[in-house]
Amino acid sequence: MAQIIDGKLISAKVKDQVKEQVEKLNKQGVSVGLAVVLVGNNPASRVYVNSKKKACAAVGIYSEEHTLPEETTEEELLSLVQKLNADKKINGILVQLPLPRHIDENKIINAISPEKDVDAFHPQNVGRIMIGEFDFLPCTPAGIMELIASTGVEITGKRCVVIGRSNIVGKPMAMLLLHKNGTVTICHSKTQNLAEICREADILVAAVGVPKLVKKDMVKPGAVVIDVGMNRLDDGSLCGDVDFADVQETAGYITPVPGGVGPMTIAMLMQNTVTAAVLQKNAVVITD
Ligand code: NAP
Repeated sequence: MAQIIDGKLISAKVKDQVKEQVEKLNKQGVSVGLAVVLVGNNPASRVYVNSKKKACAAVGIYSEEHTLPEETTEEELLSLVQKLNADKKINGILVQLPLPRHIDENKIINAISPEKDVDAFHPQNVGRIMIGEFDFLPCTPAGIMELIASTGVEITGKRCVVIGRSNIVGKPMAMLLLHKNGTVTICHSKTQNLAEICREADILVAAVGVPKLVKKDMVKPGAVVIDVGMNRLDDGSLCGDVDFADVQETAGYITPVPGGVGPMTIAMLMQNTVTAAVLQKNAVVITD
């Protein structure tokens, strides 16, 4: 029976550390601020934005929310981003995705100052992750690395399989595992023999968006299984990409949904915002 990786507990520890860092910075006269921008009425986005604001309050990060109507134009959103780029109170800018269809997400991401890009989606930050010289890691993959580290399972030399190749989860996830010397395979909707490939994985990360796609017969006994999926079912409940009850019998370690990757993503956002504040104030030391 798999050991459950408790994302709530691990994220609480990260947030405690962030809180201490914020307190130290505040004592040095440095404040830490995050702007969260929400365009339109996507209910899931509303929930995420609320959680992010709550987390800011809990760790002492100043936060401001900019809620814009669905019909906001690209120019209006770009102008807000420029304003936030220049705002000294704001160290991190997060534009909640997805944006309404008439707005080009890439244009908006490219407009965020790379130093304030706490989601690490700007091409400059993506490129720096590729070469292993980064200030920020995208929050979800960074949180997953913490979850894997908590198991004590070494990544070096292990077979790692990531299902999903999105820019925000799958691709950076694969890159981080590669930086840690994993032997990494990325699967996607055109992959043939998915189950066979997954069965080779010592570390399996599912970032797909298909409820309960990963079953017991796709998992190597003892593997670390990380479920990124957040799928809302018709009855309103949340379900991962992994069939938890089934896979729990085979895996060595498994993350639940909810209470696994989700809380880590928010904790890493808090950490990135502190990193941004430190970088913008040029090397305030906060490590002791
Ligand atoms: P996405 O952009 O829709 O990407 C999904 C990926 O899965 C694509 O690469 C797609 O392949 C692949 N895929 C789809 N069906 C597949 C199948 N049957 N077999 C193999 N691969 C398949 O999604 P995302 O943004 O990466 O998010 C993935 C999931 O994670 C979603 O449930 C999302 O809600 C969740 N998520 C959670 C967090 C968190 O904090 N917990 C954060 C971000 C996302 P193609 O490229 O070929 O289309």
